[in-house]
Amino acid sequence: VMAGAGAIRLLLLGAPGAGKGTQMGRLLQRFPGLQAVASGDLLRREIAAGSPLGEQAAAHIAAGRLLPDALVSSAILDELARRRWLHGGASWLLDGFPRTVAQAQELDAALERADAALTLVVEVAVPEDVILDRIQKRFVHVPSGRVYNLDYNPPCEAGRDDVTGEPLSRRPDDTPEVFYKRMQEYAATAGPLKEHYARQGILRTVRGPTSDIVFPQLERLVQAQLGT
Ligand code: ATP
Ligand code: MG
Repeated sequence: VMAGAGAIRLLLLGAPGAGKGTQMGRLLQRFPGLQAVASGDLLRREIAAGSPLGEQAAAHIAAGRLLPDALVSSAILDELARRRWLHGGASWLLDGFPRTVAQAQELDAALERADAALTLVVEVAVPEDVILDRIQKRFVHVPSGRVYNLDYNPPCEAGRDDVTGEPLSRRPDDTPEVFYKRMQEYAATAGPLKEHYARQGILRTVRGPTSDIVFPQLERLVQAQLGT
């Protein structure tokens, strides 16, 4: 399957707290034509809205467990279809889905039916001690998914989103206990998932202790695909 000229369909991989959301935000600023879907953000909005999907998601997320593959796959694939993203001319970014080989196979199949495919999978690799320090200082704006860190990118006004002025919150799954569980889930699923995309020849890795060091590497990979 040929990608449309200059099209990019990117998945960002990485341990919880590796800074995927931060990197996504920077990519969207740097490449204003792009749009992103983050599974965790979508689920947190469903929880906030009290939808049936949100109710199912809440217990899993609170415990640091992955949701059942079928539930997540249908929710995200519905969202991609709703956005008219399932075709070879579309460019977009994904964060947090697919997370397992079963989910990757679902996405591959949906794209293949539309004569399209992912064009790039990038793993954001960050040392574990850096991650553990980071998540204790993380705040999010749930409606937008914007991420703040008290050390690296604090909000202009304490506890408020820069764009909307709405209140920020801690993620309830960022407690040390739940975070440890999420790291274990990642360790169990990441290897086979990376192998899946390595076999397709589209897996790359960017690496470093700060988002400032990681971003230029990611930017170069995206730029190369967009041909700009
Ligand atoms: P971070 O946001 O720090 O990178 P993360 O990748 O663990 O960490 P999210 O992607 O926001 O966090 O996901 C939060 C939770 O939502 C997960 O712990 C899991 O319970 C659920 N979740 C999100 N995406 C999926 C998925 N693709 N499959 C199963 N569960 C998911
Ligand atoms: Mg995230």
